[in-house]
Amino acid sequence: MNHNLFATFDAKMRARGGSNFITTPDGKTYSYAEALATSERIAGALKALGVEPGDRVAVQVDKSPEVILLYLACLRVGGVYLPLNTGYTAEEVGYFLGDAEPALFVCRPEALADAQAIADKTGCPCVKTLGTDADGSLMEEVARAEPYSGIEPRGEDDLAAILYTSGTTGRSKGAMLTHRNLGSNCESLAEAWRFTDADRLIHALPIFHTHGLFVACNVILISGGRLYFMPKFDIDQIIEAMPDGTALMGVPTFYTRLLQDDRLTPELTRNMRLFTSGSAPLTAETHQKFQQRTGHAILERYGMTETNMNTSNPYDGPRIAGTVGMPLPGVRIRITDPESGTHEPLPQGEIGMLEVSGPNVFKGYWRMPEKTRAELLDDGYFVTGDLALIDDRGYVQIVGRDKDLVISGGFNVYPKEVEQVIDEMDGVVESAVIGVPHPDFGEGVTAVVVLEPNASVSEADVIRNLSGHLAKYKLPKLVFFVDALPRNTMGKVQKKQLRDEYKDIYTNA
Ligand code: ATP
Ligand code: MG
Repeated sequence: MNHNLFATFDAKMRARGGSNFITTPDGKTYSYAEALATSERIAGALKALGVEPGDRVAVQVDKSPEVILLYLACLRVGGVYLPLNTGYTAEEVGYFLGDAEPALFVCRPEALADAQAIADKTGCPCVKTLGTDADGSLMEEVARAEPYSGIEPRGEDDLAAILYTSGTTGRSKGAMLTHRNLGSNCESLAEAWRFTDADRLIHALPIFHTHGLFVACNVILISGGRLYFMPKFDIDQIIEAMPDGTALMGVPTFYTRLLQDDRLTPELTRNMRLFTSGSAPLTAETHQKFQQRTGHAILERYGMTETNMNTSNPYDGPRIAGTVGMPLPGVRIRITDPESGTHEPLPQGEIGMLEVSGPNVFKGYWRMPEKTRAELLDDGYFVTGDLALIDDRGYVQIVGRDKDLVISGGFNVYPKEVEQVIDEMDGVVESAVIGVPHPDFGEGVTAVVVLEPNASVSEADVIRNLSGHLAKYKLPKLVFFVDALPRNTMGKVQKKQLRDEYKDIYTNA
């Protein structure tokens, strides 16, 4: 591949000319040629505003096709694209701007005053909005500036993006991603999942995470297909798009919600060739129900901000529920004992820390040299923080995060093992098992359970059922019933939040 990620995209976009690149549910459409022309005009504006190669461009705006054109323009001028979660508060944005020191911050029109105040405080020299009409709009600059159709030279080790992690286990960290990281990953993904210019991808993910931006959009940009770009997950829009789509990239909650809709039938999904799931574990139950309903086996894959995509179930070949498949071409993984500190691979089948190396592995955490040294090893492997095993078919099973492991009375309890048994009970929708401080056991296994409406399941029922399946030390000491589990926009259960909420239940007893 071309070492400059954008040069690869630019060549593809020119070759695709007038064919459709992006369409929204309200009928807005850009052909590849139109997208190129507009992104060249935005690139001209970025240059006029003083964005130099290597400068960060921070972006916190609602999803629209223009954001992707801004992303392309940023790469064209050699900038480092830095998307921010639209859910971040002004205070959080202040932290990220202070950390990343961007040359430009592009915000929503309604946030301009706040954004300007934050920029003044953090020394960010320029703030623009992505609206079309308001004062301070980037589009005003676009109208004034000369289009820029050159490509600033960037090498494969130069940064293309800084992406902050989701903050599930602590404060978000800025992952530095190079042109090689992003380029190699979308190339191998397009090949593994057989993307061509005939594909029409239904895109309902946010575009400030690796999944929606680098997995979904980059794969289309490199293969020349089309994006159905939806502002968010909307069941009616998804169902309307499906007869004309070929692929849907989703998170597990997309599939549980689709399964609740009677319109999901084999007929509806007949033209679709691929349904994928990632960002959080897909339950075997959802996988099986979806296959029974539609005939499609959801392809589950596993990735993260620091490495993009690591593993995928096969396109051709068995897609095994409860696994995330095998490493993508060029990616290597090993399972090691986190206690030993040797990083020697464990025997096949044993649970340990999943470590990954390959051209997809990031360059380090932005301005966190110590954390980078601790997690990005000298031999190129990145310590993911996920516990996993490789089964006898060579498929990877994610067991959970090491930070979620419960150590009760000196024994390791893997929450997923307990959750799976609880989730299979009649009347249970889902559960989360956490460890919280306990005076006798160190940590007490604790279950937080969501029931179906009108189900009558008691704490004693849960414990009784579990004791038929699992050793005593794995049983929850207490079971709580709640209406819903706390999740982020990607459907990840926020266990840190649950641990905080229940932290005193044993010590206050
Ligand atoms: P932070 O690193 O800030 O705590 P985060 O790890 O949730 O947040 P992301 O990089 O968005 O931030 O998410 C990557 C994580 O998501 C992985 O480390 C893994 O724990 C989880 N994950 C992704 N795909 C899957 C999957 N298919 N099955 C299980 N877990 C998954
Ligand atoms: Mg992480």
